[in-house]
Amino acid sequence: MNYTNSQIHEVTFNKQKYFIKRDDLLNPDFSGNKARKFYYYLINDFPNIKKVVSHGSSQSNAMYSLSVLCKLKNWQFDYYVDHTASFLKENPSGNYKYAIKNSMNIIESKLPDFFDKETLFINEGGALAQAAYGIEILANEIKLWINQNNIKNIKIFLPSGTGTTALFLQKFLPFEVLTCACVGNEEYLIKQFESLEKNYHPTIIKTDKKYYFGKLYKEFYEIHNELLNQTKIEFDFLYDSLGWICFENYVKQLKEENTTFLYIHQGGIIGNESMYDRYKHKYSLI
Ligand SMILES: *Cc1c(COP(=O)(O)O)cnc(C)c1O
Repeated sequence: MNYTNSQIHEVTFNKQKYFIKRDDLLNPDFSGNKARKFYYYLINDFPNIKKVVSHGSSQSNAMYSLSVLCKLKNWQFDYYVDHTASFLKENPSGNYKYAIKNSMNIIESKLPDFFDKETLFINEGGALAQAAYGIEILANEIKLWINQNNIKNIKIFLPSGTGTTALFLQKFLPFEVLTCACVGNEEYLIKQFESLEKNYHPTIIKTDKKYYFGKLYKEFYEIHNELLNQTKIEFDFLYDSLGWICFENYVKQLKEENTTFLYIHQGGIIGNESMYDRYKHKYSLI
């Protein structure tokens, strides 16, 4: 598979200059932060492995990326969910639709208690130590760009789910990494950081309002469309809408001059398909 350094694009959003690390463009099938997190499994050989088992939501970006990985590796893929909405079963779209096309077995049941030697278990959302491998490569690409462009003052931002990407990025970068909690609250995110690493925690930007993961908010839809109009870049609904609300607030309040702002685009665009449907339905938007 062709796997190269993703580009960094300069954009202007609401009169402010930002740089965007385009991990959404890494590869048409295997992109975003899930490609970074699963890179270790992509490039190493696992001669004894025949099957991957994972679990989580039936619309997850990680689920889709694992289905691509398993297809490339010729591994069976069993994915455990609590429940799949009947609407989604009848009208497959987004990650669910394409993961099933990649031969994922979706199983509505509890995870088995143990796995045989031919099975590789991948924790929900790809929260695993092995993710450090691909994220260090991402960090090195960013360091190289900072050096080449002689940047002195930089703030790097990416929204968090499990926090794995932000955590390892901070571990491998000598600059401040900022994030916000999209899944669960700040305490949940700190616990996640601690379960992976005692030190090098990213800075968490707090939100004024409490948002629930996967819920629809008008301001999420609005900022998504504003970003699309002004930057011509499509961002993910679940993480990036809240991410941009937080980051923009932070940037507006920052007193330091001459700071470069870098936003990491972590992919997830396939998941937007089902989100668009839900937003249109809820707000009768076109
Ligand atoms: C999975 C995902 C995240 C969250 O990544 P974590 O490493 O779990 O924090 C953020 N953005 C997008 C688009 C994702 O798919």
